[in-house]
Amino acid sequence: MQVNDPVCGTKLALDRAAGQEDHRGWAYFFCSTRCDRLFTADPARYVGGEQPFARPLASEAHEEQGSHG
Ligand SMILES: [Zn+2]
Repeated sequence: MQVNDPVCGTKLALDRAAGQEDHRGWAYFFCSTRCDRLFTADPARYVGGEQPFARPLASEAHEEQGSHG
């Protein structure tokens, strides 16, 4: 499986990721620890409505209802 580094847009294989962060129930992967740090400093800057570069955390499915905002 390949994912996109949300910080720099680099496409990378999961097993090649240099870093991972969990944010709002999604796992994000990074090409380098530098991108990982940038993301950690300001996650909201890199995440939007859709997360094509992330995958849901498989542990617990947590469904939110009526969260329009
Ligand atoms: Zn990167």
